[in-house]
Amino acid sequence: MMDGSDPRAAMKVTADHLRRNAYLYVRQSSLRQVLHNTESTQRQYDLRGRAIRLGWTAEQIIVIDTDQGQSGASAADRDGFQRLVAEVSMGRAGVVLGLEVSRLARNNADWHRLLEICALSRTLILDEDGLYDPGNFNDRLLLGLKGAMSEAELHMLKARLIGGQLSKARRGELVMSLPVGLVYTTAGKVVLDPDTAVQQAIRHLFATFTATGSAIATVKAFRQQQLRFPRRITAGERKGELVWAALEHSQALRVLHNPRYAGAFCYGRHGHGRTPTGKPTTRLLPRDEWTVLINDAHPGYITWEQYETHQQRLSELAAARGTDRMASPPREGPALLQGLAICGVCGRRMTVRYHTRRDAQFPDYVCQAEGIRTATAICQNIPGAGIDTAVGALLMQKLTPLALQSALAVAEELSTRADDADRLRQATVTRARYHTDLARRRYLAVDPTNRLVADSLEADWNNALRELADATDQYEHAKASTAGPLSAQQQARITALAADIPALWSNPDTPQRERKRMARLLLQDVTISRGDHITVHIRLKGGQDHSLKLPLPLASWQLRKTPDEVVAAINELTEQHTDSQIAAILEQRGFTSGTGQPLHARIIRQIRDAYHLPSHTQRLRDAGLLTLNEIARQLDVNPRTVKSWRNAGLLTGHFANDKGEYLYELPSPDLPRPRIGRPPHQPTPTAGHTLHTEHDTVNTARRDHGREIA
Ligand SMILES: [Zn+2]
Repeated sequence: MMDGSDPRAAMKVTADHLRRNAYLYVRQSSLRQVLHNTESTQRQYDLRGRAIRLGWTAEQIIVIDTDQGQSGASAADRDGFQRLVAEVSMGRAGVVLGLEVSRLARNNADWHRLLEICALSRTLILDEDGLYDPGNFNDRLLLGLKGAMSEAELHMLKARLIGGQLSKARRGELVMSLPVGLVYTTAGKVVLDPDTAVQQAIRHLFATFTATGSAIATVKAFRQQQLRFPRRITAGERKGELVWAALEHSQALRVLHNPRYAGAFCYGRHGHGRTPTGKPTTRLLPRDEWTVLINDAHPGYITWEQYETHQQRLSELAAARGTDRMASPPREGPALLQGLAICGVCGRRMTVRYHTRRDAQFPDYVCQAEGIRTATAICQNIPGAGIDTAVGALLMQKLTPLALQSALAVAEELSTRADDADRLRQATVTRARYHTDLARRRYLAVDPTNRLVADSLEADWNNALRELADATDQYEHAKASTAGPLSAQQQARITALAADIPALWSNPDTPQRERKRMARLLLQDVTISRGDHITVHIRLKGGQDHSLKLPLPLASWQLRKTPDEVVAAINELTEQHTDSQIAAILEQRGFTSGTGQPLHARIIRQIRDAYHLPSHTQRLRDAGLLTLNEIARQLDVNPRTVKSWRNAGLLTGHFANDKGEYLYELPSPDLPRPRIGRPPHQPTPTAGHTLHTEHDTVNTARRDHGREIA
């Protein structure tokens, strides 16, 4: 090893170097090293001694140790390293001292930068292996190599550790923390927890999930029966200790998803990554991406087939109960499926919008959340009245005594589980009693003169007694409140009730809110989509599915559709009559409008417009009838002449519309022309009366005051 006394090393140190300071760079990456690694502190003092032997004075040695207690993979994190670089580049450093200097920079880029600067400022580098002059080619090569080596070494160290872990995992031998209910034996084998209370609790969870079919229902059942579930503390002072607490949903899911309960060894179920801001993230990978999965590696609580079934069931539930699909409670408003409707296009929950028509509210089921969020077109908007009716009818049809029998059978099945629950609750009491005994014996065993210990043991004993009392109380209370199996009488009452529901449903006095409640009891959710027709997919709480196809709802004018025979009659009557005349005729025949209102001219006109039936006026015009002015133009005579013909009754007029206007047939060309000087308004005395045509249904008086169509 080179030393201060080494003549070759001493030769590198010049007076120029000695004029400048020596910088001792101390880097310890973690607080733990700072606390415990006194050995490296010792080595750093040795290094200082070597610098002194090379000619620097003790006062010249400046220690840079601001990195202590910090860790980081690049120079950006470390003030100390940057200060060192600054001092070196300003030419204040004659030498840089450090233990394994190449590690002084954590990555190669930092290291090479420091070398560069040292070479430029003719700064030496001293570590335990020797003294280097970065300006010298050979030394520079050596230092560069050392940097590269140290980076490679770190990399290989990591790879070796991970590789070792992986190969152990591949053999299923890697010791991993086990979920509650499984433990390692002293020989390192995985077995079921010998604590029977723990085993029972886990078996009960799986049995309840099988019976109820959902994690939420399982948690609910545990809570209703006041059962506790074991959990192992994973960190802190009480690490490894078993605590019993109320079951939580996330916990139930963890148990149900964990393959180890099916006796399978697995490794790499989670993928690790980082967010763009550098926050570490973890996500569960799909099964085919797991690094290792070994079935039947150790005893379990369920079979692999059961595990698979559970996963299938859970993923179905997850699809039905995404966060945006949580069912909401019934509110006011008539929409039966409010909070139950799911969009058949995008799978989001649909909201209800009402529109009012003739003082009644009609629901529309709308999928608009995404449209609102992204300011795009809404996904679906489907009129709901027809859907509500169809779903209601289906519910009443399905609510048969037979369907109810199967529901009662499930209730029966659950009540037999009550015995299991009772055993588990009893175990809690037994456990509390055991702890009390233990605390009592500890207290009695201690020397009473040792007040400090005796006091704390007495407190423990008191606590244990209190817990025992609580456990006993809870046990008694739960036992009293747990419903036993349904009696034959109860079953008969439920069946009778089921028969009553259809009557209640169809009773017009039943508030819609009650129907909504009933729907909510029976329906899981209803998926709606609109295409050529409306598809309604209904899931009942009992697990049955039904699909309905409904016609697209009619537009509002179609809802008010006029009967075909009325339309035909209007068409026929329009040939000869105006709208108000038709209204009077049809009313006499006993017809009303599509909405049941009495007919009048405005409705007749609307119906004509809707069915594109030409008006009476139009028909007369199509037949070639003209106004007086038009006749005058056509015959090239003064309009007053035509009026005089009309007044003389020479023209055949037809009542054209309800404003009292007329259209006239073109007269024959040989009608008399007025003589010059004769007042045009006077009727021609020679003219005979033209007979009214059968089309002219209007009385003469009205016709005489009739106006021409403008
Ligand atoms: Zn949608």
